[in-house]
Amino acid sequence: MMRGVSGPVTSADAPPEQRTPDPPLPLAAEVFDDREAKVGEITVRRALPRRGRRTVGAWCFADHMGPEEVSETGGLDIGPHPHIGLHTVTWLVDGALVHRDSLGSEQLIRPGQLNLMTAGRGVVHAEEMSRTYRGTLQGVQLWVAQPTETRDGDAAFEHHAELPAAELDNGAAIVLIGSLAGATSTARADTELVGAELTLRRGGSIVPIRKDFEHALVVIDGEVAVGESAVRPGQLGYVGPGRDELPLASADGARLLLLGGVPFPEPILMWWNFVARSREEIALARTQWATGDERFGAVASGLARIPAPPAL
Ligand code: MN
Repeated sequence: MMRGVSGPVTSADAPPEQRTPDPPLPLAAEVFDDREAKVGEITVRRALPRRGRRTVGAWCFADHMGPEEVSETGGLDIGPHPHIGLHTVTWLVDGALVHRDSLGSEQLIRPGQLNLMTAGRGVVHAEEMSRTYRGTLQGVQLWVAQPTETRDGDAAFEHHAELPAAELDNGAAIVLIGSLAGATSTARADTELVGAELTLRRGGSIVPIRKDFEHALVVIDGEVAVGESAVRPGQLGYVGPGRDELPLASADGARLLLLGGVPFPEPILMWWNFVARSREEIALARTQWATGDERFGAVASGLARIPAPPAL
């Protein structure tokens, strides 16, 4: 087991004839404050990407939207816009949205359901709320970077109305993507990933995790203790690879998303709604969106198309 030391570990540090079990890794999360941003008419707390921590596994973007009363504002009406090289993962806690995309998909999503869109070489979508729903909106919008093997492939869309549930000690999980505590989602994953919503009761819970995964905690409500660290809504907690159990505790119960995966091996370049590898790819996608190139197709939406920002 890797120990939490810096610098090379030599055989003199642990002579083989005197092997004793490794002590448990000291447990703490690195805790980062989210940045506020505006998406549509609502305020979001952006947990990823951030300087120094652009990805967690292949998860490369995480916005905690709301909770916000949206009856008057139009809420999360987001007109047609393009994506490349990523999956969008939409998870609602409160509210409802209609997803439309250039594949012809039209899908209402409610809390507890999963929308997973694959951009591949290009897709366009819109999120419409105002004609569907009045009340409180809360959710998490996530992106997953696609690996080289699939990122130039076809776009796709999946809706999962039912997701597998798992029991935790002193809590429960809904598995969006990947596997956790014996439950496995059928949602597409192009790299080894997990995404789950955890509901923790008061007290401690031990969550079984993969030792080769790094993890992020995005807290929706309550406060979660990870060893010495406390993670609250508006923060991201990061736990590196190297342990097969994640002990969490909560004084009054909590709800959070656990996101994890094998550290993404490729450096990615993110700009606007694009995940790429080079500035040239981004510039080309930007121009193709601006000129209405057929790469991105069209969406049957009454909302206005969103123009790209000025060139990178
Ligand atoms: Mn989008």
